[in-house]
Amino acid sequence: MSKKTNNIPYRFYLTEEQLPKAWYNLRADMKEAPEPLLNPATLQPATVADISPVFSEELAKQEMDDKTAYFEIPEEVRNVYKIYRPSPLCRAYNLEKALDTPAKIYFKFEGNNTSGSHKLNSAVPQAYYAKQQGLKGLTTETGAGQWGTALSGACAMFNLPLTVYMVKGSYYQKPYRKDVMHTYGAEVIPSPSDTTEAGRRILTEIPETSGSLGCAISEAVEKAVTSEGCRYALGSVMNQVLLHQSIIGLESYTAMELLGEYPDIVIGCAGGGSNLGGLIAPFMRDKIKENKNTRFIAVEPASCPSLTRGRYLYDFCDTGKITPMARMYTLGCGFIPSADHAGGLRYHGMSPVISKLYHDGYMEAVSYKQTAVFDAATYFAKVENILPAPESSHAIRAAIDEALKCKESGEEKTILFGLTGTGYFDMTAYSSYYDGTMKDYIPSDEELEKGFAGIPDIPQNR
Ligand SMILES: *Cc1c(COP(=O)(O)O)cnc(C)c1O
Repeated sequence: MSKKTNNIPYRFYLTEEQLPKAWYNLRADMKEAPEPLLNPATLQPATVADISPVFSEELAKQEMDDKTAYFEIPEEVRNVYKIYRPSPLCRAYNLEKALDTPAKIYFKFEGNNTSGSHKLNSAVPQAYYAKQQGLKGLTTETGAGQWGTALSGACAMFNLPLTVYMVKGSYYQKPYRKDVMHTYGAEVIPSPSDTTEAGRRILTEIPETSGSLGCAISEAVEKAVTSEGCRYALGSVMNQVLLHQSIIGLESYTAMELLGEYPDIVIGCAGGGSNLGGLIAPFMRDKIKENKNTRFIAVEPASCPSLTRGRYLYDFCDTGKITPMARMYTLGCGFIPSADHAGGLRYHGMSPVISKLYHDGYMEAVSYKQTAVFDAATYFAKVENILPAPESSHAIRAAIDEALKCKESGEEKTILFGLTGTGYFDMTAYSSYYDGTMKDYIPSDEELEKGFAGIPDIPQNR
């Protein structure tokens, strides 16, 4: 009876004064920093000057800095954060009860903003720094649409023009996403398109393609570097994005501290690794610096298994091979994932920070089939009322499974997972789950080999 009747509220919010004033850069405390980006032309570590034509100056600096532990959050950014932050730290009492588990389950809910996901946390500073530098516009790509929506909203706040290359499949499958972006004033182009060389090349090679994130990145980067006063913004994978997303972990950390709690297990879904990297940051610091034995679990779709089945090598971040190379778990930059519904988790690579932590044994990774994820999504929606995004539901699946293990063993573990967003734009996915047309696609080893064959054959990879 004891802990189930304690007075921890269902929803816990920090006050405005308790909100973090600086982002936390986990790289500064890692025993070994992740490996540097490589300039593909020289195969030498990329410099701030190398990437400044692509990213705004401040972001280029953040990207390369693995020494500075804290970066002050500019006041203008904090003022936008205050519109939708703090996000609540939620106690999933109903889920605990339904599962009849002795585990305590917490989740950090990032879906309370119009973009419907955590992506706004990085979109706001990215738009702010671009405006600060006097840039004329930004370009970006979007897969499932959450990042494009978030950046459109952020650019509207700072009055900055934005062009979004949206993966063609999603552009037609999720037309309302496009209209939300239009509402914020962004131009949205289905990718591959004939507006860039990279797009035209891919269209010639595979005319019927429904596009991919890697391909849309190529187009957005090309457009940025060929347009005067324009830069590119990326919604995941990069170090700068994990830095901004640390707001999720920092708020969770303070909230749990105030509640007298500490997680035994921290779980997050992993596409490019940004929400996971942000959520775990301060808890991972404790593991690295104070030897806490917290478990960290990355959850990915079985259809795009970069951590669980990928290779830890240098690879391009895009299909068109125009970005710097990153050492990361990758399925190969030419890997085009199947039309799985977990749109935001379909990227061939994984954040270098998460990749390094996983490689060095600080984290675990699991993958789930799509239908198992939707079993968890619908179960969760019924008991906790929130309609989760398919991406987020990967973390729910793993949290439920860990809570069920506690039920078997009788252990009263404290579980924290990231609920990254809501699923209102994903009802096609829910429909296919209900009408039984949802498929569980798992790539064969042969298919993965084809992707691996496209990984650059450079000395660093031998
Ligand atoms: C984009 C997205 C993800 C995955 O991105 P990460 O960079 O891995 O965090 C997860 N959930 C939602 C709702 C998203 O929009």
